[in-house]
Amino acid sequence: MTESGPGAAVRLGRLVVPVECPGCGADDVRWCDECEAPWWEPPLRCETGAPRLSALDPPLPVWSIAELDGPVHGVIAAWKDAGRRDLGALLGAAMRRAAAEVAPALASVVAPGAAPVAVVPCPARAAHTRRRGADLPRALAEAAAAGLSDRGFPAAVRAVLVPGRGASRGAGDRGRWRAGAPRASRDAWVSREASAALLVDDVVTTGATLARAADALAGTPIVPVGALVLASAQGPSRGPSVGRG
Ligand SMILES: [Zn+2]
Repeated sequence: MTESGPGAAVRLGRLVVPVECPGCGADDVRWCDECEAPWWEPPLRCETGAPRLSALDPPLPVWSIAELDGPVHGVIAAWKDAGRRDLGALLGAAMRRAAAEVAPALASVVAPGAAPVAVVPCPARAAHTRRRGADLPRALAEAAAAGLSDRGFPAAVRAVLVPGRGASRGAGDRGRWRAGAPRASRDAWVSREASAALLVDDVVTTGATLARAADALAGTPIVPVGALVLASAQGPSRGPSVGRG
């Protein structure tokens, strides 16, 4: 049996590239309304649940849009590592809205007339960027910078962190911590004027990545004053946690 015409082409397309919601597996949608809903939540502070961040001095406020539960994890994983680059539209829009909401909090620590806020992506490993054929952390940072600009807040992406190398065999705890850590590139020192920086990453679990990023920028004119992530393992604190359920 042979078929022809546009309908056949569509059916063939479905056969070759089945589309399903990466959050719940619903058929024939790029993502479903239910799995999109968490991305419309306002970003909330989440650093208190991340052990590596609570030790930072000065402390780094971290805002997270969603809790890293099954559907949220599914969407992020599909975007990063299953070739669902189309999800960048969903996640980029969420990051942009979230940055716009965070802007007033940053305004309280950035002097009027100061240099534009540096939006600094936590870099992916070079091998990951090569495999994906795209610099996804940078895409998130671009979206965040757009969100700050939406609120009239001058902001620019400054990709001043370069990925660290893997730990050498036999390295101690401190060595492993240092070995995987990003480094500040020469670009971090380009401007003599200090810039407040918003770090951007996809997820926070222990907070080690953000802590290392802040550590790497210590001593440069790029001064982290906050971080914004798509999702956090502990979930953002949505008001008092007592008296529920
Ligand atoms: Zn879904």
